[in-house]
Amino acid sequence: MILKPSGILLIAGGLLTFVASIWVFILEGIFGTTAGTLIVLFLFLVGGLELSSGRSVWRAEIGSWKGIMTSLGLSLPFRAIMVYYSEDTYLFWTGAIIGIGELLSFTFLYFNRGFFLPSEEERAGVMGKIEVSAVKTAAECPNCHAIVEIDWDSCPDCGTALSKSCAKCGAPLERGAVKCSSCGTDVEKPAHILRTIETLRASAEEDVPPETKSSRFARLGESYLKNGEIEKALDVYEKAIEYTGYDRKRCHFMVKMATILKNTGKTDDAMVLLDDAIEMDPQDYAGAAKLKSEILGGGSQRTEASGVPQSS
Ligand SMILES: [Zn+2]
Ligand SMILES: [Zn+2]
Repeated sequence: MILKPSGILLIAGGLLTFVASIWVFILEGIFGTTAGTLIVLFLFLVGGLELSSGRSVWRAEIGSWKGIMTSLGLSLPFRAIMVYYSEDTYLFWTGAIIGIGELLSFTFLYFNRGFFLPSEEERAGVMGKIEVSAVKTAAECPNCHAIVEIDWDSCPDCGTALSKSCAKCGAPLERGAVKCSSCGTDVEKPAHILRTIETLRASAEEDVPPETKSSRFARLGESYLKNGEIEKALDVYEKAIEYTGYDRKRCHFMVKMATILKNTGKTDDAMVLLDDAIEMDPQDYAGAAKLKSEILGGGSQRTEASGVPQSS
């Protein structure tokens, strides 16, 4: 690595400029004169620039190339002037050596801008993130036409499997795929859904009135659906049914469960639930009879929509 030695050299150059400016100040007897003060201030400025660019070179700071080139380009002529007028042997030689080193560093860094550019990997990472967030737009459930997000596995309203595509290459993903079969990218579970599931699960376990508990379990069920966890969703809807004291609310959850069962290919289980619901609430506010006739009529009336039955 050439950057560390260059960095040290520039820092040494900066320090030498400071020493030289004090030296000039004392030896040349220009203390107190306006010109002398200006010279010393100027040398301090050049020294400071060198120090900071030395630090940038040492750390290979991304994006610092232009600044380094500018301050090196400024300090080189002054190094030359300092060396040329130097009457002290010690100052002359250290100045000359550092000056040559700076010239070499300047030349080398000029042609190696790449050290101060973000690596391909970093750029790809940033672009990848942009692509992922750009892809995450709303879509429509093919079955119930609810608005769904692109990273949901199933529709939270009806349980229909949603098609997902690889965030990197755009290839369609199979349900439950861990890796993209086309480019091998890991399929990540959306972190925000997992967090919501955790939060809702904890809040459903809290010691709250049964009706609140029932509603929280129902919300948890929707999050499980978004994450494609059909069985867990059905489990928590069962709990929502168990905790509520109202038959209509219970029927509503039963129809919801039946909808999920129907859309995941378990029509028999769905029918059992719907019959129970109709029996419990003959006025059928929850729409069990409608769903039942849809199933008996061989799928939904929206034929374009029935979705791919899912096996799990
Ligand atoms: Zn839907
Ligand atoms: Zn892919």
